Amino acid sequence: MKKVLLIGAYFLCSTFAISQTVEDMVNAIEKEGIENSQLEQLAYELMDLNGPRLVGTPEMKSAHDWAVNTYKKWGISAENQQWGTWKGWQRGITHVDMVSPRVASLHATQLAWNPGTSSKGVTASLITLPSFTDSLSFVKWLPNVKGKIVMVSMLQPTGRPDENWEEYATKTSFEKMKSERDSLEKIWRQNINNTGYTSRNINTAFEKAGAVGIAQSRWSEGFGANKIFSAGTEKIPAVDISLEDYGMLYRMVEHGADTKIKIVAESKDLGVVPTFNTIATIPGTEFPDEYVVLSAHFDSWDGGTGATDNGTGTITMLEAARILKKVYPNPKRTILVGHWGSEEQGLNGSSSFVEDHPEIVAGVQALFNQDNGTGRVVRLSGQGFLHAYDYLGRWLEAVPETYKNEIETTFPGSPGRGGSDYASFVAAGAPAFSLSSLSWDYWNYTWHTNLDTYDKIVFDDVRNNAILTAILTYMACEDPEKTSREKAVLGINPRSGKKGEWPTPRTPQRKGGQD
Ligand SMILES: [Zn+2]
Repeated sequence: MKKVLLIGAYFLCSTFAISQTVEDMVNAIEKEGIENSQLEQLAYELMDLNGPRLVGTPEMKSAHDWAVNTYKKWGISAENQQWGTWKGWQRGITHVDMVSPRVASLHATQLAWNPGTSSKGVTASLITLPSFTDSLSFVKWLPNVKGKIVMVSMLQPTGRPDENWEEYATKTSFEKMKSERDSLEKIWRQNINNTGYTSRNINTAFEKAGAVGIAQSRWSEGFGANKIFSAGTEKIPAVDISLEDYGMLYRMVEHGADTKIKIVAESKDLGVVPTFNTIATIPGTEFPDEYVVLSAHFDSWDGGTGATDNGTGTITMLEAARILKKVYPNPKRTILVGHWGSEEQGLNGSSSFVEDHPEIVAGVQALFNQDNGTGRVVRLSGQGFLHAYDYLGRWLEAVPETYKNEIETTFPGSPGRGGSDYASFVAAGAPAFSLSSLSWDYWNYTWHTNLDTYDKIVFDDVRNNAILTAILTYMACEDPEKTSREKAVLGINPRSGKKGEWPTPRTPQRKGGQD
């Protein structure tokens, strides 16, 4: 009787001792993350000072070097690992002005990897697209673009986002605007279709026919927000113009005003440059060949400074690593931070890493990726791993309520097939998860837009995420068990009617923009 009691007491004590350690560590992580947060400083250095991180640009490389140096300052070893090459390109001065019938400076920017102009620029009349009945009528009209700058986007009927109409318009005028816009869009798409080209390749036709520039406006359905991607021209400049200025120009051309603009876009072609992932590691003491991976893509588009895509994911992982190095410097498993290059062009950095480091992929205990904006983490899926509930559940238990009370979990969930870098690891069978966050109007306002800048970062939410990530990482490092990789049986795909299959690893594009 006495012996049994003693054993019971021993178990109670040891359970208590473990949870006390966990509690102390969680408190230390929280304290460091709140009282000594480096997020504002990191965001300033990465977004304001370094700038956007388009693959192939000098700013991408300087950001990689900055990350390595930042880790070194914290006593964490880090290096840039080359995985491929890319078309080298440097953005220069873009200045776009209306010069006739009056002078006005326009809100415009050159598109990525686009050929530049001389410092004198290109001055030419604008031309809009008439309606085409078929590809023959397009071919017949095409010589008209010679010497002109072609306006290739539809005129938007309103620059106000729908929420604004919803709040202030009468129901009737809101409905009228929407149906008018729908029909304009339909007519626009049909007209492009009739040319025999798509909106993706039609610029090449204009370029070949002697156009001297392309003017587009890719409105992102929010006040002042445009999506800024690449151009698809080889010799002539292509610029994106704000909805407000584009609309003005378009109406002037349609009314027959002699409308001319001047485009100065002094970008530079830098040939072929190497491209990297930055990898940081805090070596494991007990299981050095097992890895808890902190993951966030490092590259961005360059209309803004890539603050929420994916500056916030990046500083979340940097800050989590900093906190852990300070309060948990000797993890049982190796903590590896992956700052991937060229996610935006198809997960190229992470899928190269998966291809190049099968031994690390085999040793992944868990991977946490963050890449959908600045918001608090609110969704976590088991990604189709049958036992994810057990271990993620165990780890989440240690997380204080304030960091997890909004998280909706889905188990076992289904494997991610793209969207961000965790998918590269899921495809290789490694338990990789997405810390999916609240939107804060990500899709319209900041995702790939000119407005993706420092001021959109909600630091308290990012702080929340850095602390959450650090705690999950600590728990995953300490777990006595290696995580299971058993896959759930996938359901019938409603579209194909076939049994769902696990995604297969994608082949990275290792020579970008060089064809
Ligand atoms: Zn992203």
